[in-house]
Amino acid sequence: MSNFDVIVVGGGHAGCEAAAASARLGARTALVTHRFATIGEMSCNPAFGGLGKGHLVREIDALDGLMGRAADAAGIHYRLLNRSKGPAVQGPRCQADRALYRSAMQRLIQEQADLEVLEGGVEALIVKSGEVRGVVLGSGNRLTAGAVVLTTGTFLNGLIHIGPEQVPAGRVGEAPARRLSEHLVAAGARLGRLKTGTPPRLDGTTIDWSRLQPQPGDAEPVPLSLMTERVGNPQIPCHITETTLATHEIIRENLHLSAMYSGEITGIGPRYCPSVEDKVVRFADRERHQVFLEPEGLEDTTIYPNGLSTSLPATVQESFIASIPGLERARIVRPGYAIEYDYLDPRDLWPTLETRYLPGLFLAGQINGTTGYEEAGGQGLLAGLNAARRASQGKADFTIGRADAYLGVMIDDLVMRGVSEPYRMFTSRSEYRLHLRADNADRRLTPLGLAIGCVGSERSGRFERKLGSLEAARDALSQLSMTPDEAARHGVDIRRDGRRRTAFELLALPGLSMERLSGIWPALASIPASIVSEIETDARYSVYLTRQAEEIAALRRDDALGIPADLDIAALSGLSNEIRQKLIRHRPSTIAQASRMDGMTPSALMLLLAHVKSRARRKSA
Ligand code: FAD
Repeated sequence: MSNFDVIVVGGGHAGCEAAAASARLGARTALVTHRFATIGEMSCNPAFGGLGKGHLVREIDALDGLMGRAADAAGIHYRLLNRSKGPAVQGPRCQADRALYRSAMQRLIQEQADLEVLEGGVEALIVKSGEVRGVVLGSGNRLTAGAVVLTTGTFLNGLIHIGPEQVPAGRVGEAPARRLSEHLVAAGARLGRLKTGTPPRLDGTTIDWSRLQPQPGDAEPVPLSLMTERVGNPQIPCHITETTLATHEIIRENLHLSAMYSGEITGIGPRYCPSVEDKVVRFADRERHQVFLEPEGLEDTTIYPNGLSTSLPATVQESFIASIPGLERARIVRPGYAIEYDYLDPRDLWPTLETRYLPGLFLAGQINGTTGYEEAGGQGLLAGLNAARRASQGKADFTIGRADAYLGVMIDDLVMRGVSEPYRMFTSRSEYRLHLRADNADRRLTPLGLAIGCVGSERSGRFERKLGSLEAARDALSQLSMTPDEAARHGVDIRRDGRRRTAFELLALPGLSMERLSGIWPALASIPASIVSEIETDARYSVYLTRQAEEIAALRRDDALGIPADLDIAALSGLSNEIRQKLIRHRPSTIAQASRMDGMTPSALMLLLAHVKSRARRKSA
């Protein structure tokens, strides 16, 4: 018998979600990671959520994942981003105290039944009859399992750059994983090289705060997890400063020393999260760039200067920091650096995140070419669920579509299109933004989680109660109605067409809120405050949501049109050689997936569709 059903390698953001999700399904799970103490480590900025990323945290949470709850246990500064824009693009975000986040995540992992944490480095995989059967640790110990999830982050052949200095490392102060990459290539993986960077950390006691503009958090923090009733930690402000012409001059003069500009780094970095060197070069006409000074903790005086990621030598970092208002005497606690690492081409994955070349091996997180804690956590969750279903339950794949969640958008983008730079989530990546909101993540996903058994009883009870309240509120709003004349008597101006409108329809009108309607119909005042804004949003978007529901139904029809696994693509006539090879390599399982494949043309798609349909006709004849 195997030691475990599932082994998860790496206790980062992907690994924690993968291990906990697998164990929630009752699979005997091991989380093998270098050190227990680094579980819950935030390699870069001390924050969770934001635009697109906040949606992902809520979706992880809706499937009973850990990230939202741990972040709320550590949250010291909350902001609902895009508050002035539509609810579809609003993203909850919180700054998290590093130490509190680590301890919250470590506690959640320790409390999880069926989950054991083992300290050690994995150096190789055990492969039998072409399938993964376990891992070999650096100590020589072997652990067996029915499935393995690799979540090694930036550790595969990680190389840190600070100016001309290079140090092999997975993260600062931690050794890289060297042998695993070779092992994976031998198994059929295609490797690429990416890079990311981090700013220097500053000693907050040496910053002149009196010169800086404070940025307080929201007066009423919006928690990341729907399980959090109240944010308990004291809330502290961030501060804002700006780079100056002198900063830009120093950076420009020393560009040849930056690892990123001297040609030392070959990996591709995230365009939307540029280093300060990038900003100075790419936006040469800008006189200043904003820098957010984010506290790393309540008891920690370290400050994270968001916007100053760099790979310049430490001495140059010191001089450009001193040219920024408020930071003239700031002491650098740890210099910024860039890191290059191997990633595995995600087009070699099934939508379950299982590799196509080695059954039983799943990959999640930065190893798949993504960047960010939330992207990693989301993949970890799905990989963990699928690994557990495969290894301990023998059950079918659990996948989430593009129309259901940003999680589905991300996985589809990764496996169908691959990455050309570190992939991060944006709301603009979704076709169904009005439907995929942060506030309705539970309505979209918790029922799916309940169906497969990954949602615990506490959340399930809370979800049932919320659904009950939403339904009661919708009923109440649909039963109350008034004519345009009656509305006018209440000071509500609507088209005089004689048509009665329900309270729900009225709620869609600009300027009408639940508060205003409660003044007209006092019974509405009993609708729980916790669901008011969600109901208002549903009402406001209801026309568009109906239209979007039709589009989603069409997508589902296409998705349902499966491409038989045994369809002989090599023998299909009329396809270009390039598309034929791509189809053979990626084996899309539906027409919808094929349509999203990188390089797919409309004519090739029509041909494929014709072949699939004619084969279906032949079979049914
Ligand atoms: P990690 O969080 O890196 O976790 C990997 C885990 O695997 C670690 O616990 C490690 O000990 C363990 N491990 C590795 N190899 C082995 C092995 N062989 N055996 C056992 N255990 C192993 N994201 C952003 O969104 N914005 C940024 O600006 C940003 N900047 C970054 C800067 C730096 C310097 C770094 C390192 C990362 C940055 N990131 C940034 C990325 C973000 O930190 C990652 O995307 C996220 O942490 C990835 O999560 P993960 O679970 O894939 O890997």
